[in-house]
Amino acid sequence: MAHQGLKREVIAFFGPPGSGKGTVAQIWQQRGGVISLSTGSLCRQHIQEQTVHGKEFKQLLDKGLLIPDALMSAMVGDWLIAHKDHEGVILLDGYPRTAEQVRQWHEIMVRDMVEFAHRVVLFEISDNVLVDRLCQRLTCSNSRCQKVYSLTESLSTCLDCGSALVRRHDDEPEVIAQRLNVYAGHKRALLAACETQGVEVKIFNVDEVPFKNMFECFLKVLSEKGCVAK
Ligand SMILES: [Zn+2]
Repeated sequence: MAHQGLKREVIAFFGPPGSGKGTVAQIWQQRGGVISLSTGSLCRQHIQEQTVHGKEFKQLLDKGLLIPDALMSAMVGDWLIAHKDHEGVILLDGYPRTAEQVRQWHEIMVRDMVEFAHRVVLFEISDNVLVDRLCQRLTCSNSRCQKVYSLTESLSTCLDCGSALVRRHDDEPEVIAQRLNVYAGHKRALLAACETQGVEVKIFNVDEVPFKNMFECFLKVLSEKGCVAK
């Protein structure tokens, strides 16, 4: 079923945690016509169902080895082909992540997914804005809940389950700085590969965008009208 004139397109989100890509993906899916693939859940599903890819994946994980790009792309490619009938947008989160994955993704798109356009949306956020945002985060210590709060809410316990709120190790300033360095390297590689392959990259600069306007601004950026922050 077609939704609100959405064209058939595969869009890969790229951006650091805290840049708002999860929020945008969630709102867009609620509006209908948009489905998404998280590579993390796809890998877990393959392992659980003991598929050919899943078995190979598990062996590598057990040995502490990295997942080769070709295996990741094969799994994503199979999933995309299985969802070829979708009349709308398909979002990818967590893929492509390397230059080689960009090349393999582009190849899958032009070979097996010709009805779909494809592009990357880069969620661009300045390091200082991101650090401020992440340092403000508190997370519920209950592993089944993990609801995220802001320090500015002045809460010490979770409103949903009553467990203590803590700052995650990942949100400590030194750890954030390390993560940003790693991310910057990935970003350079990814952008260079997109240029080589001729994959369009849309840049969504979220620095000045108020959280509540995030989704509307995202849609404007996609439609090429640009977004003026108010
Ligand atoms: Zn909780």
